[in-house]
Amino acid sequence: MKNKITGRNLYYITKESGIPLIGSIYFGIIDRGTNLIQVRPAAGFCPLNCPFCSVDEGPHSKRRFTDYIVSPSYLIEEAKKVIDYKDISDMEIHIDGQTEPTLYPYLLDLIGTFAKDPRIAIISMQTNGIPLTSQYIQKLERAGLNRINLSINSLNPKHAKYLAGTSEYNINHIIEIAKVIAKSSIHLLIAPLWVPGINDQDIEEIISFASKLKQKSDFPILGIQNYLKYKFGRKIKGVKVVNVKKFKKKLQEWEEKYGIHPLYLSMNDFKMHPANKYPKPLRKGEKIEVEIVLPGRLLSWQKNKREMLGRAKGRIIHIMNCSAKIGDRITVRILSTKDNIYYGREIYH
Ligand code: SF4
Repeated sequence: MKNKITGRNLYYITKESGIPLIGSIYFGIIDRGTNLIQVRPAAGFCPLNCPFCSVDEGPHSKRRFTDYIVSPSYLIEEAKKVIDYKDISDMEIHIDGQTEPTLYPYLLDLIGTFAKDPRIAIISMQTNGIPLTSQYIQKLERAGLNRINLSINSLNPKHAKYLAGTSEYNINHIIEIAKVIAKSSIHLLIAPLWVPGINDQDIEEIISFASKLKQKSDFPILGIQNYLKYKFGRKIKGVKVVNVKKFKKKLQEWEEKYGIHPLYLSMNDFKMHPANKYPKPLRKGEKIEVEIVLPGRLLSWQKNKREMLGRAKGRIIHIMNCSAKIGDRITVRILSTKDNIYYGREIYH
């Protein structure tokens, strides 16, 4: 299939494909050892081209070459296995990914099914807000969504277009959407990215805007994020990354100036806590036979090589600079297993 937004090849992942939903940063389920699991239903459905995008997403992407979409029933079945393992009754399902989640065609079914599980206390979702309308928000509310993390990086139309990477971005639509969400039963978390020297004044205006929304909730209304540079992401030239200490200090300054607390958030602010980590069947350093099942999203600077995704022991493994084709069986050295996300290197005999 072709993805209409990006024009790239799109792979539909079903249970029958036998492609595991744990192990990849691109799709499926990510468990970082807390009561929150990230559910990633797709990769490659974002209409924006933010110049700071950590995953180089959107129609102008230069480094992503494959998109994915996961069948909702398969995603739910596998997420429930992780929830069973954690054996707690205050789970949060956070829907996100290298995509715009509201464009996932089965989103309402996904949320509706999770909402029926009594062990799930919160269903939250990341969005840039573009596809949202009052009607869509009502449907999300009825399906059982509890929180929307809405990206807003500037209220100034010109700056907002620059930070969205497209002249079609309409911040007035997003402002209206924020107001509709704030009046609904869905909690609104405005999530701006602070890019030092680029949107300092804009962040102050967003803080002021958020404080006027007067939402009744135990959760914070603002989750300001720090700009970081990623190897395979987009970077804004000339912007210096601010370390955690300086970031915290800046947020404390804004807390005092605007009387809005807290701006520097911790796990406690989202009722998050450690919980059983789903088992890792692969060890760092291990040598293992892997079956190649999908192309990865990244190409390689090496001729006739690219990132490929393999499977072994029920996990996906990202293999950079790989020369194998789908269906090949190759030997791989496991390089990283953090958060049950696997990276490996092809071993040539
Ligand atoms: S930062 Fe988010 S909204 Fe912007 S291009 Fe990347 S995925 Fe899309």
